[in-house]
Amino acid sequence: MKLKPLAAFAVLSVFLFAGSLPAQGLGPGFTKVKDGIYVFASKEGNSTCSVVLTQDGPVVIDTCQTPLDAQKFAAGVKQLTDKPVRFVFDTEVHNDHTFGHYFFSPPAIVVNHEGAGEGMKKSVDPKRVETLAAQSPEMAAAVKNYKFIPPHIEYKNKMTVNLGERTFELYYLKNVHSEADEAIWLPKERVLFAASAANVKSIINLRPFVRIPDLLASYKFMKSLNPEVVVPGHGAPTTMKIFDEYEGFYTLLQKRVSDLARQGKSLEEIKKELKMPEYADWAGQDRLGANIDVAWQTRN
Ligand SMILES: [Zn+2]
Repeated sequence: MKLKPLAAFAVLSVFLFAGSLPAQGLGPGFTKVKDGIYVFASKEGNSTCSVVLTQDGPVVIDTCQTPLDAQKFAAGVKQLTDKPVRFVFDTEVHNDHTFGHYFFSPPAIVVNHEGAGEGMKKSVDPKRVETLAAQSPEMAAAVKNYKFIPPHIEYKNKMTVNLGERTFELYYLKNVHSEADEAIWLPKERVLFAASAANVKSIINLRPFVRIPDLLASYKFMKSLNPEVVVPGHGAPTTMKIFDEYEGFYTLLQKRVSDLARQGKSLEEIKKELKMPEYADWAGQDRLGANIDVAWQTRN
């Protein structure tokens, strides 16, 4: 294919931006990270949803930020293969990763770690479908077939799924983001779906049960797998460097909270005083307070 200079530049920029190939023909938002492995996010910051093709049918990892995103993603999957989706693996329990199960299941079997179904049930908003439908006729159509689908299979600690020529290793990540978070590792392809333990340059909304030592342990573990490509829960596909960035952030945050606590400062005082100017360019600055709350739990 011969490209005009501008088009060639556009293709090159996507390549450089994502650190991987644009997925030609699948439309905007799709990125090809390896043969048969595609990641979709309709815009920067939206949750990623991915498909891994196998000889025996595709596997979907997370089901997108919104039903409209899930619809676009499902259409892309259909373009790639006419085989039915065999599994959906969730990297966490929140709506922006799991609400779209109904686009793929049935026939897909949904899998996440123990506690995922309970976590999903806790956050069910009975008005959500109605609220979404009111947004636009397109959204109303996209939620028409909505059904609440908790995971069919919940495992403990680790599960291996062999499908066609691929192997998927599912690992529980304890206390990193939601009631059940898992990393999905493809050892042969060296691609890691890293859940929302680390996103791309964004202060994450930490729930009160998240623990900084557990976050740090999850980075250490994921780095030990030595992935070539890391697909975060939110943000463009990247490399292991995101684990170093977040390790740096939480180590410094924990140190500052602990230092101030040792000086006799209260949590409220620390929240007023503590700044992280080194990370001023990260999104989600309004979530620093929630991060300090969590660091306070393990002050030393
Ligand atoms: Zn989440």
